[in-house]
Amino acid sequence: MILHGKTALVTGAGKGIGRAIALRMAIEGANVVINYSGSEDAAADCATECEKAGVRTLRIKADVSDAAQVEEMFARAVEEFGTVDILVNNAGITRDKIILRMKEEDFDSVLDINLKGSYNCMKAASKIMLKQRNGRIISISSIVGLRGNVGQVNYSASKAGIIGMTKSLARELASKGINVNAVAPGFIETDMTKALPESEKEKLLAVIPAGRMGKPEDIAGAVLFLAGPDSSYVTGQVLTVDGGMV
Ligand code: NAP
Repeated sequence: MILHGKTALVTGAGKGIGRAIALRMAIEGANVVINYSGSEDAAADCATECEKAGVRTLRIKADVSDAAQVEEMFARAVEEFGTVDILVNNAGITRDKIILRMKEEDFDSVLDINLKGSYNCMKAASKIMLKQRNGRIISISSIVGLRGNVGQVNYSASKAGIIGMTKSLARELASKGINVNAVAPGFIETDMTKALPESEKEKLLAVIPAGRMGKPEDIAGAVLFLAGPDSSYVTGQVLTVDGGMV
């Protein structure tokens, strides 16, 4: 139980990759703050599963793109658990379109939730972690932020932005005992990729050396490494988890 006694806040934890991360944290002994914005039932189910590991949970509905809601979420987490030791910026959306069809609101909503949402949470978490001079901030980027992708100008900008923020904040906070890293998943089986047409999935599978899509648990394992004691000298890094794709 490498996270025994810690408190982890996972954004977008009701489903997909966030849920797998929350469960993994719970199994390793961390109390988990489960953030969601719309999937209330999924968040409740995630909490029930986490609690089976013997830890406490707190479900908080908050839109990560709204700084006031994020502040309030961290305040409630501190009220309940005393602190936040681990932040996982997982919440994210896609609004895929080729550039000529991409509307301003497609660009803005993806940047607001994926990038500004991560910034809002990084800022709120930093305040708490600086006081205790200890903490881990892990953000879910994407291989698309490293290599780009057709139809994802908005999404790749948000995910590349997360990498830039991670590297800058890692430098700001390294001497204060706070490590800041990112995980860049490849092609993972969740609702986000379910929407892709079969022809697109076949093309993607053909370029994954591992020969399969990743599972949310594959990402949770990498996040756990970055949240746990074995990565105490690792900061400012992007850990790619993509079956060899990039
Ligand atoms: P998903 O199943 O669609 O989950 C997305 C999560 O984000 C949901 O829990 C959702 O919660 C939450 N969310 C969306 N808008 C939010 C907001 N404004 N405030 C708070 N939470 C919000 O997708 P996923 O595949 O698990 O994605 C998780 C992360 O991994 C995302 O950042 C995604 O970009 C990244 N990623 C995924 C893949 C992949 O292949 N699946 C690859 C690379 C990176 P609600 O339903 O409650 O809104």
